Amino acid sequence: MPAVAKKQRDAPGRPTRRMRGVVPALETAAQLLAWYDAERRELPWRYAADEAADPYHVWLSEIMLQQTTVKAVIPYYEKFLARFPSLRSLAKADLEDVLQLWAGLGYYSRAHNLHACARAVVKRHKGKFPASEAELLELPGIGPYTAAAIASIAFGEVTTPVDGNVERVVARLFSITEPLPAAKGELKRRAAELTPRLRPGDFAQAMMDLGATVCTSKRPSCLMCPLASGCAARAEGIAETLPRKLDKGTRPTRFGVAFLALREDGHVLLRERPPTGLLARMLEVPSTEWTDAAPAHEQAMRAAPVRADWWPVPGTVVHVFTHFRLELAVYHAIVPSDASLNLWASPERCRWVARTRLPGQALPSLMRKVIQHAMRES
Ligand code: SF4
Repeated sequence: MPAVAKKQRDAPGRPTRRMRGVVPALETAAQLLAWYDAERRELPWRYAADEAADPYHVWLSEIMLQQTTVKAVIPYYEKFLARFPSLRSLAKADLEDVLQLWAGLGYYSRAHNLHACARAVVKRHKGKFPASEAELLELPGIGPYTAAAIASIAFGEVTTPVDGNVERVVARLFSITEPLPAAKGELKRRAAELTPRLRPGDFAQAMMDLGATVCTSKRPSCLMCPLASGCAARAEGIAETLPRKLDKGTRPTRFGVAFLALREDGHVLLRERPPTGLLARMLEVPSTEWTDAAPAHEQAMRAAPVRADWWPVPGTVVHVFTHFRLELAVYHAIVPSDASLNLWASPERCRWVARTRLPGQALPSLMRKVIQHAMRES
């Protein structure tokens, strides 16, 4: 350890990493809440400390904020509230209207779930969101982070939503050097230890704000940080290197074959992915399952969505997900306009989309890469 860093850590009054582990949760929460009261971001879904938050507003904003920036969400949030001022009005709406209003915000499975969730709350809970994290988790589209965020912000439950921002702040405060994703459990536990029994919702929002505006991934503004005096990573001079991430090269690789069928009339075959799991409800180019070994040609052909003269496109498409690296071989075929789909391709989830309309489809970047790869060779 550099001499200066060691001296800083051992200086009287400066919490060491060991001390931080046992003591200053309350002190840290108090410092953060005082900062939040003075510096918090004014956002359309935010409530003052003495106001009761409307769960509908909290839920709507949290669903929209998944995978999207605050700046992009604000106009959509305002448009949605103007059109659907209450949960019941959203539940009554046609799905098509909801999707139309959502257009441009991406990840369309969220819009499907938003609508399904509004209906489920009306049906199962008489139009009022349940107040506990456990019950919220039972609703469509509400995962662990969103359930904890709604429970703490709207209902004051002492629980801690942990997203990438919070993981970063906590990894630095405690100087947790174990890489993600293995460190997730430890980061969640430490974040929970910091959460105060009073104002847990404000604490959650304060952590979000700190991660978004001060403890940013590149160049954290430690001089402006309310938690700087107790931050272990800052004292050690390693803040910018945390949280560490598993080297991409150490992720396991999965393999599959994607089938790009182009109809003679210029339509491409796409399929909606299942409602749960990776890339849920997004459109895909039909493919084999993604497995640990590359499927042999004959095996791949048995999964083709339509009988055709398939030919392999040279090269592969590589995409890196959080937990694995995917390598897809791509097969291409021109098929007649009356081609019928094989039953194992789940025809009920398939649709033919005009090639010219592909840019406006809810396609994840992996599938855009597959289409570009196949079209380049066609
Ligand atoms: Fe992040 Fe710096 Fe604050 Fe530590 S002192 S929490 S690294 S901004």
